[in-house]
Amino acid sequence: MTDLVLSESLTAVRARLEEALRAAGRPADDARLLAVSKTKPAELIREAWHEGQREFGENYVQEALDKQAELADLDPIVWHFIGPLQSNKTRDVAEHFSWVHSVDRERIARRLNDQRPEALGPLDICLQVNISDEASKSGLSLDELPALAEAVLSMPRLRLRGLMAIPAPAEGLAAQRAPFARLREALEGLRERFPEAPLDTLSMGMSDDLEAAVLEGATLVRLGTAIFGARAHR
Ligand SMILES: *Cc1c(COP(=O)(O)O)cnc(C)c1O
Repeated sequence: MTDLVLSESLTAVRARLEEALRAAGRPADDARLLAVSKTKPAELIREAWHEGQREFGENYVQEALDKQAELADLDPIVWHFIGPLQSNKTRDVAEHFSWVHSVDRERIARRLNDQRPEALGPLDICLQVNISDEASKSGLSLDELPALAEAVLSMPRLRLRGLMAIPAPAEGLAAQRAPFARLREALEGLRERFPEAPLDTLSMGMSDDLEAAVLEGATLVRLGTAIFGARAHR
């Protein structure tokens, strides 16, 4: 994608999401688009914002803070942190983001809770689950999920909203759907176990597997390449 025209790619992605929801028999507003802007310049985010996009996902803390400073005049805008999170970066994330999708250990959750400023309201959290059984991928196992969910639910500055996953790449709709179905079932299990919790979010589906994720109930799809074009290797 040289010569990317952002307004066109964004329109195409919105149509794709709408069609996927229709194919799944779901209402047109049943899933939101998170624009994943990692490695992309602030100017492209600004352009997407002027096209009506409000939620953006970033993976690298310092890069995100720099862009947020450049875009401080855009209001409203909602920043989601979706990358691996180390303990020495939790304060920046707690202070500068609305959502974190990549919580997979209690120590990180505890720090986010302790460091979330009162003035900002609770930080929305998704727990990242490893549903592809790949040792190399981050995320907690399904076995560990209930204990971490219970711990996060006890933290007053965090609001547990749901689950996130990045499955291993797979070819074909059926193979792509299987891990997303496991994540959906895991969320259903948590809802039964914690009926009072505001568990309304399945953060799943990227540029290559959006349709499979929407068929399995994704409520927040995270698309980068399809909106902003291919990323240079970091
Ligand atoms: C980069 C990234 C995405 C977007 O991936 P694309 O394939 O470019 O759509 C989504 N989620 C996470 C966690 C990412 O790191």
